[in-house]
Amino acid sequence: MPSTLSDHDTTIVHMVEHANRLYDRFAPDLHADPEVFGLVEAYAGAIARSGARMLDMGVVATCTDCATQGPGSCCFPGIESGYDAVLLLINRLMGCRLPDAREVEASCYFVGSKGCKLKGRYYFCLQYLCPRLEDLLGPGRAHDLLSTIGEELAAGWRLEQALRRWIGPSLEDAP
Ligand code: SF4
Repeated sequence: MPSTLSDHDTTIVHMVEHANRLYDRFAPDLHADPEVFGLVEAYAGAIARSGARMLDMGVVATCTDCATQGPGSCCFPGIESGYDAVLLLINRLMGCRLPDAREVEASCYFVGSKGCKLKGRYYFCLQYLCPRLEDLLGPGRAHDLLSTIGEELAAGWRLEQALRRWIGPSLEDAP
């Protein structure tokens, strides 16, 4: 487990480089595979549905207000350690450019001037509802939102499993 900021940076930079190598090696064939293509499309659709619900429910406005007016974003440094090469590869397949350095000090490696740079995010980034969001949503709407987010996570999991089968041992190469 990384113990300092520079350890966090070294670990995630190596993971990003590993994902970029996998992308350079496999992307043309992955994009041409109908199963993978279909799963990428399904995942992107599920992400769009979650995003639309967050917008409708006021979650996006609340998170933006918190990040800009305080008390501050929950995208804290070190949280990026939840990302592995396959989820970063998925982000590349969905058109995201992975940063080669941390842009915002004292924040997650993937925070940029316009917020998160990733499309495919892991469960903690999606499922955590802070007390302010819990107050905003109430139990019923929180349950509805988490249900939609669950569909997004399931679509991501199906794509991840397909990629693990497709790429095999190269996924485990040292980052
Ligand atoms: S939402 Fe994005 S910026 Fe925030 S912690 Fe997750 S990956 Fe990092």
